[in-house]
Amino acid sequence: MTQKSQFNIKVSDLLKETGKQDSIDFTELKTKNIPWLTSEWVSWTVSLESQSKKTIQASFTDIQCQINDTCEACSSEYTRQVRCDFHEVKFTLDKSQYDNEAQDEIFPIDEKSNIDLEDVVVQAIGLQTPTTKLCYDCINKQESDNDDYSSLDYFENGDNIQFN
Ligand SMILES: [Zn+2]
Repeated sequence: MTQKSQFNIKVSDLLKETGKQDSIDFTELKTKNIPWLTSEWVSWTVSLESQSKKTIQASFTDIQCQINDTCEACSSEYTRQVRCDFHEVKFTLDKSQYDNEAQDEIFPIDEKSNIDLEDVVVQAIGLQTPTTKLCYDCINKQESDNDDYSSLDYFENGDNIQFN
C-alpha cells in the first residue's frame, strides 16, 4: 500500500483478494476542512481489510487532535482535546450495493483505486463535538453544581425505563 499524498492511499493491492489486511499510522496531518484545528494537527491509525474485490472495511483508531473552540457559557476561547477511539466505515467501488445501509458510513474508492481518508477523519472528529461546548473551568463548575442532584437524577431516570 502506497501513500499517494497526505490523506490518499492506493488500495489496489488490497482489492486483489478478499481478507487482505494492512494498517498504517498517520501522524500530524493538517486538514483544511477543519479550519479551527490547532497547530497540533491530526493523528490516527487506520486498519484496512478487503471484504471483496470491490469493498474495503476501514477501522480508524486513536484519532486525536486539538480544536480551538469558544465556551458557550463564558465566551472564552479554549482548546478542546478531541479523541475518537474507534470509527468504522466502508470504502467501495460500488456504492449502489449499499443503498440500504447508512450512507454516511459508505465512502468511494475512485477509478484509480485510491481512497481519501480526509472526509472520514473530519466526520469522526465532527461526531466528537459536544452538544454544549464548555471550557474546562465551566465544566468543573457545572460538575460541582450538579453533585447535589446526581443521586436524584439516577432515580428519575430509573423510573423512565419501561419493560415490555
Ligand atoms: Zn467557560
